Amino acid sequence: MPNRVCLVHYHEIGLKGKNRATFENQLVNNLRRALRGYAVADVRRVSGHLLVTDESGRVSDEMAAAIARVPGVARVSLAYLCSLSEQEYCGAAVKALSEAGEFSTFKVHARRSSTNYELHTLDIHQLVGGVLCDAFPDKKVEMHNPDMIVHVLVVQGSVYVYAASQVGVGGLPVGTAGKVVTLLSSGFDSPVATWMVGRRGAICVPVHFSGRPMTADTSEWLCQDIVNALEPAGIIGRLYVVPFGERQREISLAVPQSLRIITYRRVMFAVSERIARIEGAKALVTGESLGQVASQTLENIAAVNEVVSLPVLRPLIGSDKQEIMRRAEQIGTHEISSQAAEDCCTLFMPRRPETHARLDAVHEASSLPVSFVYQDEPREMRAHHSYLGPRKA
Ligand code: ATP
Ligand code: MG
Repeated sequence: MPNRVCLVHYHEIGLKGKNRATFENQLVNNLRRALRGYAVADVRRVSGHLLVTDESGRVSDEMAAAIARVPGVARVSLAYLCSLSEQEYCGAAVKALSEAGEFSTFKVHARRSSTNYELHTLDIHQLVGGVLCDAFPDKKVEMHNPDMIVHVLVVQGSVYVYAASQVGVGGLPVGTAGKVVTLLSSGFDSPVATWMVGRRGAICVPVHFSGRPMTADTSEWLCQDIVNALEPAGIIGRLYVVPFGERQREISLAVPQSLRIITYRRVMFAVSERIARIEGAKALVTGESLGQVASQTLENIAAVNEVVSLPVLRPLIGSDKQEIMRRAEQIGTHEISSQAAEDCCTLFMPRRPETHARLDAVHEASSLPVSFVYQDEPREMRAHHSYLGPRKA
C-alpha cells in the first residue's frame, strides 16, 4: 500500500504576488511548530501545495486535524503518494474513493506539473475513470457538480491521489501581519477576538488584568488555559498578567461611581499600550461588541479610546453573542470561558454605570490626584507559573 501523506491547500497566499514565497515559508514554519508533538518527517512545498510526511509513512487523522487548525490552511487532504505505476495509482484511487464517505456521483480530475510523464490529463481521466467505474458499478460519473472528485496530481516522479478533504480555518499564516497586544479576559469574547486577528496573520501578545490581591488568581489560570487552547494554532504568545485590584480600589475611592468602569478601562488601555510599545506591537485588540454591555456604547468606546494612540481593533464589534459562542466552541475556549471567575471587572462595580459618558466629565475624573498610570514595569508583570502560585483544584 502506498504511503499516506497530507497535502495542504492554501488559496489566499496564492494571491499575494511577490510575497508568496514569504507567506509559504511562514506557513511551513508554523506547521512545523504546530506538529511538534507528532513524528513529522518533512514539511515542504510541492507544486502549489505543502506536503507533510510522517516518519511511519502513514499520517494520522489527528495530524490532519491539527494541520486544519493552523491559520493559512484552506483545506487538508489525506493523499496516497504513489509511483508512476498505473496499477499503483489506480489502486490508490479506488481506495481513496472507498474511504471518502457517502456519494452517488463522482469524477476524476487530473493535473500534471513539471513532469515529462507520457500520459496526458485526458488519458489519466480515462484510465482512472475506467477503473473506478468498474470498482463502483452503482455510482455515476458526473462532470458538473459531482458529489466527489478524485484528484490525481502528477508531480515529477510521483503521483498524489486523494478524494476527501477537510476544511481548514483559512486566513493567513500567523507572523505575516505583525504583532498585536490583545486584552484577554477569561470571558467568551476576547479569546474569540484574539483568534480572529490571529487568523488574519497577527501574532497576539495577551494581557490580562486580574483583581489580585483583592480576588483569587482563578481568572489568571483560566486565561492561561485559554492561551494553551490557542497555542496549537500558533496564534498566541506568553501571557502578561497585571494585578489590578489595588489600583481599582484607588480609582473607586477617587472617581464618581458612574465613571468607575470607564476609568478602569482607560487605565487598562494605557497599560496595554505601554506593553505594546515594549513588545513592538502595532495595535490593541479587544472583544467588544457594540451595545453588548454598558461600557460598549459609542460614547464610552470613544472615552476609552482617546487615551491611546495605537489603533484598537475590535473584530467582534458587529457580532451577536450567539455567533461568538459558536466560534468559541469551534476554537476550544467555550468550556474554559463557562467557568466563573472573579477578575478585575467584577471588583468595585458601580450600581449604575454611565452608559453615555461625557468627555468633560471623564477628563475631570481622570485629573484627580491619583496615580492612575501604572508604575510597575510591565516586563515584571509577565506571568510565570511560580508567579501564579500553585493551582487549586
Ligand atoms: P469578554 O467576554 O471578552 O470578557 P465582556 O463581554 O465581558 O468581554 P467587557 O467586560 O466590557 O465585555 O470587556 C470588553 C473587553 O475588554 C474584553 O473583550 C477584553 O478585550 C477587555 N477586557 C475586559 N476585562 C479584561 C481583563 N480583566 N483583562 C484584560 N482585558 C479585559
Ligand atoms: Mg468579561
